[in-house]
This record gives sequence, C-alpha cells and structure tokens, in this order.
Amino acid sequence: MADNNLKPEFDVIVIGAGIVGSCAAYQLAKLGKRVALIEQFAFDNNKGSSHGGSRIFRFITGEKVFFSLIKDSLKEWKNLEKESGQELQCGYLWMGSHEGSEARAKSFKDFGIPFEYLKGKEIGEKFPQFEFGPEWAAILDPQGGALLADKCVSAVQRLAKSHGAFLRDHEPVLRIEPYDDKVEVFTSKNKYSAKKIIITAGPWLKKVLPDLKIKAEPQLMGVNYYKVTGNYDNFKTEKGSPMFLMSDLCDCVYGLPDIDFPGLIKGGIHMGIRIDADGKREFPDWMHTIPAKWFSKHIKDMDVSKPVKQVACMYTVTEDEYFIIDQSPTHPNIYIGGGFSGYGFKYAPTVGKILANLALGNPISHDLSAFSVTREMKQKSKL
Ligand SMILES: Cc1cc2nc3c(=O)[nH]c(=O)nc-3n(C[C@H](O)[C@H](O)[C@H](O)COP(=O)(O)OP(=O)(O)OC[C@H]3O[C@@H](n4cnc5c(N)ncnc54)[C@H](O)[C@@H]3O)c2cc1C
Repeated sequence: MADNNLKPEFDVIVIGAGIVGSCAAYQLAKLGKRVALIEQFAFDNNKGSSHGGSRIFRFITGEKVFFSLIKDSLKEWKNLEKESGQELQCGYLWMGSHEGSEARAKSFKDFGIPFEYLKGKEIGEKFPQFEFGPEWAAILDPQGGALLADKCVSAVQRLAKSHGAFLRDHEPVLRIEPYDDKVEVFTSKNKYSAKKIIITAGPWLKKVLPDLKIKAEPQLMGVNYYKVTGNYDNFKTEKGSPMFLMSDLCDCVYGLPDIDFPGLIKGGIHMGIRIDADGKREFPDWMHTIPAKWFSKHIKDMDVSKPVKQVACMYTVTEDEYFIIDQSPTHPNIYIGGGFSGYGFKYAPTVGKILANLALGNPISHDLSAFSVTREMKQKSKL
C-alpha cells in the first residue's frame, strides 16, 4: 500500500552503483538534491561491468553521435580529477585498414580533435612493440588514455557521499511501484520513496524493468593478462605506451599496457556470449585464443601462449549497440541509463550528468534521439 500522505523522502533514487549510477548520484548530490544510491552487492563488487584496474578513454569512435558526449566527458573527468586527485593517462592507438583509418581521421577533422596518422611500418617506428605491414594504418589519439576503473568508481562514490548523497550497498531493489507524484522502491531491507528514480542496473536492467521492450542483453566477456618477456619500457604508459585496438583487417581486439599489474598486458576480444546476469561466469577458450592469435602476429616481447590471469566482466548490449538514455515510455517518473556495452565507462560522467538533468527536468544540450528507449533498431554502431 502506498503511503500517499507522506512526502517522498528523496528527490531522486538511483538504482545500481556502477560507474554510470555513481556519476548520476554524484551530479545530483552536487546540485544539493536529496539523492540515494542503492546497490545490490558491495560497492566494490566485481560482478557487473565497472570493476577492474583500467578502461580505455578515447576520442576515436566510428560514430559522430558520440563526439559531443566524449568532448563533454573529458571535461567532466578533468573536473573529477581535480576534485578527487584521480589521474587520466595519455595515448590511444587504433590500428585498422587505410579505409577505416581515413574514415576515423575524417571524424577527428570534422570535430577539430588533434590526432596523428601513421601508415604501415611507421606504427612500429613510433612504437617498437608493434609490427604492422603496409596494408595497415593507425590513428594516434593523444588525448586518449587509461581510466583507473576501480579507483574512478570509488572516487565518484566518495564525492557523492561528501556532497550529501545517501549510499546503501548490499541492498537489492526487489520491486518498484510508480505513482503519479512519486515512486516507491522496495529493497531487501527497506522501503524508500522519491519524486523520480534513475535505473542504472547494467546487465540486470531487464530484471529491474521486465516490461522494457528494448533488448538489453547481458554478455559475458573474458579479459586476459599476458606476460611481457622483454623490452619492458615499451609497455609502460609513463614511457608513452598507448592503449590500443586493432580492427578492420582482423577480429576486433584491444590491449592495455601494464597498468593493472606490473609486467602484464591486458587484452581481449570485443565479443561476448549471451548469459543470464546471475548465471555462471565461465568463458570459452576463444576469448583468449583469438586475441592471442592477432597479438602474436603484431606485438613483440609478449608471451601469449597462456594468459597469466583471466577475469570475467559483463557488457550490456542493445541490438544496435547504442546506449539507452531516456525517460521510461510508461512511467514518466522513471529514467533509464543502460546498454553501455564495451565502451560506456569513458562516457559515464556525461551520461550521469544527463540522467541527473533529465530527472530534474532541466534542458539537455546533447541530441539523445539515438539513445531513445523506443527507437527503431537500424545498423549497429561502429564502436
Ligand atoms: C571487459 C570489459 C572491458 C571494457 N573496456 C572498456 C573500455 O576500455 N572503455 C570504456 O569506456 N568502457 C569499457 N567497458 C564498458 C564499461 O565498463 C561499461 O559500459 C560500464 O562499466 C557500464 O557501467 P554501468 O554502471 O552501466 O553498469 P554496471 O557497472 O554493471 O553497474 C550496474 C550496477 O547495478 C547494480 N544493480 C543491478 N540490479 C540491481 C538491483 N536490483 N538493486 C540494486 N542494485 C542493482 C549491479 O549490482 C551493478 O553494480 C568494458 C567493459 C568490460 C566488461
């Protein structure tokens, strides 16, 4: 039964404390709003999408729609960096065909973002750990770099708390009851009410909102750590070793220099297998053998015969691989942030800000039509 006479205790409740929900709660708290951030597991859990030592930040994207978000996001990360002492490191390299690289270069030019274009063996001349033939080209994105993921999540949560947010972990949200003027949220321990709620439940989105029509599928991803066998300096970010991605002429595989663990390179393939968000986290061998095959062709001084360590993580994937950033089509007091796939971390400060402003009824300066929850699915995003 709804306590219709009681004023909602919060302006906004955010459900799900991954990087996106944490950023939304931080933005709302900074604006002086009464906000609660509720998480089903521990705040530092490793079950969703936001855990781990690192994530790639990059300007390069195949899609124009992401450029206005990423520009704003860099500004927001810098603000967070100042407020929390969190650091952003530099350099991102995307190897691909000449055709693909030229298309990426064009987007960079159109948006006035600095980059360097490398052809074939120029890649290995600039970065001696790599070896690429004349059919390859690369874009170097000097503003790209590594976001120290676990530290970012906890820094944002700490800042949200310092601005007055109410944080609760180990408290799964079991039920939501929307009314005209408020939403009631029932967890395993309490009942809360708010004028609005924001749902950022990552791979559990469809479990929290089972009536949602759009597909947002949990996919299991396997992350590998490979041992560097020599020329260690070539793999150190402080010596200019970039995050990297290879595509077009091979499977889409990525790697990060030794950030998470000394002497280990993180690498994987941008492809997962569909699972239940609460299901088993066992991933197939090809999540190691495919990246290992491409790394062995193009990266020197790395032992890819067997990963030293493997970690599971989840993507949440819509059919077109665009995000969901919208108001619920059925309940106007509910806002949704989801489907952030394998590239949502870098956008989180901006997406959190947008979700906060949507919930407050403030104007949004970005075109969000590509992220509508009721959109027609067209072609897949190109990362
Ligand atoms: C292997 C891998 C590599 C990646 N690499 C990059 C990269 O290099 N660059 C990049 O930008 N992005 C990258 N990403 C993607 C990025 O990490 C995700 O897009 C982002 O973390 C999504 O965050 P989220 O907050 O939406 O989801 P999550 O982090 O999953 O957060 C959702 C939270 O909601 C909670 N929750 C769910 N249901 C409930 C409930 N009922 N009650 C309370 N709480 C609930 C969950 O427990 C979870 O903590 C990568 C992802 C993976 C898996």
